[in-house]
Formats: sequence, structure tokens, C-alpha cells
Amino acid sequence: MHKIALPLMLVASSLSFADTHDHDHEHEHEQAQLGSHVHGMAQLDVVQEGSMLLASLKAPAADLVGFEHVAHEEEQINQVYDLVGRMNLPDTFWYLPEAAGCEAEEIHVEHHLLEDEQDHDHDHDHNDEHDHDAAHSDVIVDYYYHCEQPEQLEQIRVNLFSTYPSLLELQVQLITPAGQQGMTLNAGQNILRLKE
Ligand SMILES: [Zn+2]
Repeated sequence: MHKIALPLMLVASSLSFADTHDHDHEHEHEQAQLGSHVHGMAQLDVVQEGSMLLASLKAPAADLVGFEHVAHEEEQINQVYDLVGRMNLPDTFWYLPEAAGCEAEEIHVEHHLLEDEQDHDHDHDHNDEHDHDAAHSDVIVDYYYHCEQPEQLEQIRVNLFSTYPSLLELQVQLITPAGQQGMTLNAGQNILRLKE
């Protein structure tokens, strides 16, 4: 059903450890986590085509929950659950114009803040100095909308800055039938304009 546009799939890959082929489980997801990022800065890809609206947010976990390691204490685990719960309420993220009649069909939150089986396979024996980059961890949230009146999508107010004050800047890549456009939003300029 979903035609997922390419830009959403262009998550960083092929970083360090690319030479090790002797692992028997998928590493691509983990490698996407190894890139360094700048705290306070998040990225947002927005694709609108016909009735389809996709938004993919990639933000440092530090700005959303205050840490980037796997949560062990109950308080931190609860923070992660809270984050996932909030991200599943699209209004936390942005307000779409009501006239556009958009409905979130699917929301997917990806993070590496809770322990899971795959994480146990990590090999921490080597003393590779480059490893400290791996301490960074992103949270990726994908929103898939169907909009009855997509032409009404003129301005979208992004709410992230009030919910997550340590997030200072959002770098947006916007792709619409009118073309591709980059812009930067912040707490003072939080309106995403799809049309002039
Ligand atoms: Zn980080």
C-alpha cells in the first residue's frame, strides 16, 4: 500500500565496521546509529505527493530523553516509554491544518534506548578509538499521513521546540510536486511553509 519515497530511506549507512563481514545478523540498523550528530540539532524530511504526506524526524536522543545510552534504571526506562507515547501523538510533533483532512495512518518510532536481544551481540573488546562516536544515538520517527485536501497544506506549525526545549534547530528538507527545498526552523520560526 505505502509507496515510501526514497528520501526517507536515505538514512546514513556504510559507516565504520563496514569491513567486518563475519557477523551473522543484520548490522545495517546498528550502523545507522554510529554517525555522530550535533546535540540540539534535528533533521526532518517531509515529502508530499498527491494525498500522501510523509514526515521523517531524526533527532539526538540526548535532546528527547536526556541520554543516549541503553536505559537501565527504571526512571530512564519510563522516560523512553513516555517519549514513544508522545511521539505517537502527532500533535506533539506538529499541527497540520484541519482543512487538509490529514489522518495519520502509521507512526513508527525507532530508537536504541532499551535493551533488546540484538544488543547483546555487540563486541566491545577491541580498543578502537573511533568507538566513541558510537555513543551517540538517534531517535527516528516516521509519520505516514493520508490527506483528503492536500492543497490545504500551506503552513504547518512544528511543536517540537516547546516539547523538547533542548532542541534548538530543525533542518528541514521538503519535497513537494513544486520541487525540493531546504530550510531551518527553530523556536522563533516554527512554521513550515509548503506553499508561498
Ligand atoms: Zn549524541
